[in-house]
Formats: sequence, C-alpha cells, structure tokens
Amino acid sequence: MPRLHVIPVVLLLLVACASAPTPAPLPALAPISHDPQQDLGLLWVKHAAEYKAIATQVYRSAEAALPGYINDTSWSAMPGQTGAENLPPAVILDVDETVVSNVDFQLTFERPFANHKLDEWSSNYESLPITGVKSFVDAARTQGVTVFFVTNRPCEFIEGNNDPCPQKGTTIDDIIEVGIAVEPEYVMLSGERPDWDREKLVRRELIAGTHRVIMLIGDDYGDFVPCARKKVIAPCTAPATRKSRATALQTYDKYWGAGWYILPNPMHGSWTSVR
Ligand SMILES: [Mg+2]
Repeated sequence: MPRLHVIPVVLLLLVACASAPTPAPLPALAPISHDPQQDLGLLWVKHAAEYKAIATQVYRSAEAALPGYINDTSWSAMPGQTGAENLPPAVILDVDETVVSNVDFQLTFERPFANHKLDEWSSNYESLPITGVKSFVDAARTQGVTVFFVTNRPCEFIEGNNDPCPQKGTTIDDIIEVGIAVEPEYVMLSGERPDWDREKLVRRELIAGTHRVIMLIGDDYGDFVPCARKKVIAPCTAPATRKSRATALQTYDKYWGAGWYILPNPMHGSWTSVR
C-alpha cells in the first residue's frame, strides 16, 4: 500500500518542478550600516574570544615552526628567492592588526577614514598588542632571526613639522608600547623612499636581498601576495579582482600555514577594494 501513495506524490512533484515559474529576483540588500557600534566585524574583533583564540593559534603555530625554517637553509617564504642559503634568517611582520590592535580606533573615529586620524589616535593612546605577537617576536629574536616591520602607514607631511616622515616615530612608539623593542632601520613605511609605494612586494624584495625571509605574517592579502589591491601600483600592471585573488590562493597554496601566517581582519583591508 505505501508504494501506491509514493508514486503519485513523486509524479506531482515532477509536474510541479517542470512548470515552476522562474524565481523572482532577490530583493536588494539592506544598506550596510555605517554605525561602528552595529558592525559585526568590529564587534567580533573587539569582544569575541574566538578572535583572540585565532590570533593565539596563528602566533603559536608560527613560533613552533621557527626552528624548522631556521635550520632548513633551502627554505624561503618569498616566492622566487633562491641562493639565500648563507643569508641570515628574517621574518616580515605587518604592523596594524598584526602587531598592534586598532579596534578601539575603528570603533570610535569619525568617518571617513584618513591616515592622519589614525596617526593622531596612535599618538594619543597607548597601543594594545595583537595576542601572541610579543611571544613570537621574542622567540624569533632569541633564535637569531631578524624581525622587520613593513607597514602601509604612509609618510605624510604635517604642517609645522620638518620631519619628512613624522609617522615613523609614531609607528615605532606603537611597536615599543606593546613590549617589542625596535630600531628604526627595521620599520619600513609606505613612501619612506620614493619606490616604497603601497605595493609591499618592493620592500619585501629589498629585505630578501640581504636576508633569507623565512616567514611572512600579516592580516591583509597584500602582506603576502603581490598585486592584491584594486589600485594598480608598480610593478603590478592590472587591478586585482575577486577572481585574481582567488586564483592567487591556488598559486601560493603551499605557503598558507607553512611560512605564511594570516590573521583575521573583517574591519578593513585590500579585500574591500575589489569586485
Ligand atoms: Mg595590517
């Protein structure tokens, strides 16, 4: 008896599917809230234990991998770096959302974003560390690894200040405030030299000329992958797209979690620029 009931039901479903109208277009998405206190990305970074757990996981994994990459002198985390066996090992860290947390700035600054607003905030408030970074840097240095900080904070003129890059002092202070001593030569800002644009590849390659780069650590695709942003900056020749970034995931697949360590940042970054 049950079989007699099932067959008509299946037939009815087939008929219904065959004659189903084309689905109506989805309604437009609701406008994105620009209230930072309602922004789930900001709130997640500020309050979620999950965020700190991931940061701990990232830095602990990187720290545990240090001895292997130090001892394997054939290893480089810079695609294309060869002949570096006799160079001293180095790691390259980004700064914002990699070393220092700016979530409190993100929650409070008056939109729209401007670099001088972050610089002023950084000058007036003590920096907070990304969980796990100090332990990692201490471990790297103890094992003889040079730590470079490559940031896209820009050098910008400030009225009444003769320093060509007053933001460098602010950045160094921020790194020191989270417990990491650093000398100016290891902190490299965007625009500090004429060819140091926001495409970080140029600065990474400069470091790779004198050091075997064993790790890259950052929160933005551009901290790892060349040509990750929409704006075309030399040596890139085309704007990044969601598709090109997805392709790069495959191109550089072997590095993620193995020389490249990325922290989450749902608040801002080059990912917001592409379509
Ligand atoms: Mg960053």
